[in-house]
Amino acid sequence: MTEKQQQDATGTSSSANGRLGSLPTQTKKLTKQELKESFFSGEPKINVPFEQIEQLYALPVPELLHLAQTVHLKNFSPEVQFCSLLSIKTGGCKEDCSYCPQSAHYQTEVDAHQLLPLEEIRSAAQEAKAGGATRFCMGAAWRSPPKKGKQFDQVLESIRAVHAEGLEVCTTLGMLDEEQAEQLKEAGVYAYNHNLDTSPEYYEKVITTRTYEDRLQTLKNVRKAGMTICCGGIVGMGESQTDRLRLLEVLANLNPHPESVPVNLLIRTPGTPFEKLSDFDPFELVRTIAVARIIMPKSRVRLSAGRTEMDESTQAMCFTAGANSVFVGEKLLTAGNPALQKDKKLLERLGLKVSEESANTKNTVPGGSGKACH
Ligand code: SF4
Repeated sequence: MTEKQQQDATGTSSSANGRLGSLPTQTKKLTKQELKESFFSGEPKINVPFEQIEQLYALPVPELLHLAQTVHLKNFSPEVQFCSLLSIKTGGCKEDCSYCPQSAHYQTEVDAHQLLPLEEIRSAAQEAKAGGATRFCMGAAWRSPPKKGKQFDQVLESIRAVHAEGLEVCTTLGMLDEEQAEQLKEAGVYAYNHNLDTSPEYYEKVITTRTYEDRLQTLKNVRKAGMTICCGGIVGMGESQTDRLRLLEVLANLNPHPESVPVNLLIRTPGTPFEKLSDFDPFELVRTIAVARIIMPKSRVRLSAGRTEMDESTQAMCFTAGANSVFVGEKLLTAGNPALQKDKKLLERLGLKVSEESANTKNTVPGGSGKACH
């Protein structure tokens, strides 16, 4: 696929800064004041030059957080959305994502299971809703969902059941063609999660069984079908700072921006190729979230997998940087996650509310405040 075709496919801009495969080009450096002023309005821009993303990332942390929080409050109230994530089909995936315990390429202790029955999914959704979640994400370890047939029909039935509970439905099932995307949308999927994971340049160090362009094509199909996009990445996979910024650049050059941007911290699972990677500096995570918030001001930035690796002060800094969603529940697909009561307590201590908003407006959450996936 040519660069032009890629841009047409993904809705990314056609300017030099919207490039996916080439390394950054030089543009005029802004003064610190000019830089801050250019983002201060909190309005989304497409085509943010790489150099500006780099300059933002390099701001002193207090200044970066001040700018991020200013942009955040122009678009959001101080609330955090709770999402629940259920692995509806675990393990045995054909892909070789180096971070993932569900890949069939690695020997891990994942508890593999086939597609969960509808009733089990429905009751998990009811439980999540009772706990304050307004969004329910179903993940299946597939390269792509099986074409039509019994399994896919069962997934569509489960989506209808969760939608009927009044929850915002998100799914993450691997790569989709146009027809599958349309069927999911029709069944009630509001958001489709499909992460780009890292920069185009570092991608082959993480996954070899599919390409960056494959991912972008699925995002195009999702958008075309009328679902919203949940797309982000993982930090701490041995990538460089430039790789993190290139990922943010690609995301911020999708037009429109992904409505949801999950930022995951690698969980170094034994048996995966990334199990022995070094600790990741939490301030790099905070900077990544802050820059995501500033350059994608209206997107929900989700502090996703890896919260078990973070202390509460780091999580508080992430909220200050503009994260406004977390995954709740004991498990996040196959990884551990802070318990719901602990999360509620933390938000209370920080003076943040649990969001009651859901894109599926049939019902509201009773009692109110109360991944890494593909
Ligand atoms: S991240 Fe998703 S696609 Fe990759 S191996 Fe795991 S389940 Fe499969």
